[in-house]
Amino acid sequence: MSMLEIDSIHTGYGDVPILHGLSLKIDEGMIGAVVGANGAGKTTTMRAVAGMLPCWKGEIRLAGERIDQLSPGRRVDAGVILVPEGRKLFPSMTVRENLELGSLHPKAKAARAKTLDQVFEIFPRLKERESQKTGTLSGGEQQMCAIGRGLMGLPKLLMLDEPSLGLAPIIVETIFDIVRRIRKEGVTVLMVEQNVRHALALSDQAWVLEHGRIEFGGKGRELLADDRVKRAYLGM
Ligand code: ATP
Repeated sequence: MSMLEIDSIHTGYGDVPILHGLSLKIDEGMIGAVVGANGAGKTTTMRAVAGMLPCWKGEIRLAGERIDQLSPGRRVDAGVILVPEGRKLFPSMTVRENLELGSLHPKAKAARAKTLDQVFEIFPRLKERESQKTGTLSGGEQQMCAIGRGLMGLPKLLMLDEPSLGLAPIIVETIFDIVRRIRKEGVTVLMVEQNVRHALALSDQAWVLEHGRIEFGGKGRELLADDRVKRAYLGM
């Protein structure tokens, strides 16, 4: 079954179109990655799925149900969670407080204590830093906190916008290991990454986005071997 189906969507900012009939499908429990040049519309795609931008044309479905006309809050309820680029944490609040902010809707709130235990199991580092102000964490720890906050919302679809941006290579490995772990827990992931090599190696399904359209897609590992990808994105 497809967890996420984006079917020929058109959207943009004001009256400026950015996505021109974009379509992709991610199967339940898989990692999907979208790669493409700066400004191609990757973040815009995630915003459209999260409901932060109106869907002008086309449909978006989660586990077969239309979500494109729901408010952002209703989509969170349905299990669509976005971990934005730049993490958007509250620096003067503690790690635990930031995590708790991910579980404000009723279903997540009811499960908060249990989910928090699970998040601390995935991120022992966050458990150690539970009472520390989030602004004093390292970049990698802050990314863990942002992903942890996303998990606190009980996602069916977790969208990660540039999770490895600005992190040291060794921390990037840790973050990608965490994404694998999240897939193991049964969460479907849609990821946008500048780190094309890593993203394709990790993903089950992947797409190259150019000028607001999917140019081509395939299994992540197939795209890694694709000459067009090698030339344009891997510098080969
Ligand atoms: P990057 O990797 O640089 O973030 P991206 O593929 O995620 O690239 P988007 O952020 O989706 O690209 O941007 C696509 C286009 O939409 C760009 O031309 C950008 O200038 C424009 N855009 C993005 N956000 C806004 C906004 N809030 N208002 C107007 N235009 C925007």
